Amino acid sequence: MKAVQYRSVGAAPEVVEIPDPEPGPGQVVVQVTAAGLCHSDLTLMHLPAERLEFPLPMTLGHEGVGTVAALGAGTTGVTIGDSVAVYGPWGCGLCAACAAGRENYCPHAGRLGIRSPGLGAPGALAQFLLVDDVRHLVPFDGLDPVAAVSLTDAGLTPYHAVKWALPALVPGSTAVVIGVGGLGHVAIQLLRALTPARVVALDVNDDKLALAGAVGAHEALVSDESAPAAIRALTGGLGAEAVFDFVGVAATGRIAVASAAAQARVLNVGLGGGAMPMGFMLVPPGMSAYAPYWGTRGDLIEVIALARAGALSVRTETYTLDGAPLAYERLRAGKVTGRAVVLPNC
Ligand code: NAD
Ligand code: ZN
Repeated sequence: MKAVQYRSVGAAPEVVEIPDPEPGPGQVVVQVTAAGLCHSDLTLMHLPAERLEFPLPMTLGHEGVGTVAALGAGTTGVTIGDSVAVYGPWGCGLCAACAAGRENYCPHAGRLGIRSPGLGAPGALAQFLLVDDVRHLVPFDGLDPVAAVSLTDAGLTPYHAVKWALPALVPGSTAVVIGVGGLGHVAIQLLRALTPARVVALDVNDDKLALAGAVGAHEALVSDESAPAAIRALTGGLGAEAVFDFVGVAATGRIAVASAAAQARVLNVGLGGGAMPMGFMLVPPGMSAYAPYWGTRGDLIEVIALARAGALSVRTETYTLDGAPLAYERLRAGKVTGRAVVLPNC
């Protein structure tokens, strides 16, 4: 089959021919209809060799949907031809976190060598994807694969983040979204669907600010050192009750905390390598900070249900598997509006 692989440290991704996966006992092979590209893939391909925690080459792609194509011995619960979305943060399946569906916080996965597809295990940027267990599949029938594949990360991650901030987002509150990319433009829609908060979006790119308004942000502001004062002006001097940083560089961490109200919930979602200040006199009184990772299995089921209800629209541009390296270049250059989605079997 054809696959897009990261083959050596620092090299560009390549389209290669590799053997089709064979499902072992309990496993499932999914024929991939759509796979989304995430900025985290670029971060991973930037890591120096000593920080890469798995061997190369590796097939990329941690957002995937498709149809069940083959079942390993004894696999039950799905049937050939079923339309499924893949839950990506794989845990051990046995600990308390996994039992609660919080496989994204399984404390044993790393030690046991359990890796997520596209983040150590073979990923979804291929014609076929090996899924280790039926519990990592969610029914996906009736949804458009292109429009909905990114619910598995660009939907799931902000959904998990917004749920944590919900208690702060009462009527009259303000939520700030920093970075209106794949995740951020879904976060704005989630905030509008799930809360009465006023939504203020920040970005450095005019196209992304226009997208913010198109998907429901009440205000769209340039992300620079003047942004916290603008947010205070919009909130009677108080600041925002929740701030979501989907960039995670030092500058956005400073903006996030400087824009926050007393008792705000502030989230560092982006992997930009920056740090947020934390400590008395450095942050507003009562502020909580959270660095969420992906989302729970239950969150994925819920965000798919929200999409089925028509509350979410992921903006996409589509590519063939051969076009995936170009799509990654466009993502790196900030030229993708919404999410780049690859159709591996077209
Ligand atoms: P993306 O490339 O689609 O979007 C990034 C956006 O940030 C772009 O619109 C860009 O213009 C904007 N931006 C860049 N610098 C900015 C600045 N200084 N201020 C405001 N906006 C700025 O990326 P994505 O795929 O949406 O991912 C967003 C981030 O979230 C990445 O760092 C990614 O690695 C991370 N991520 C984290 C998790 C998690 O579980 N924590 C999951 C998925 C992605
Ligand atoms: Zn991702």
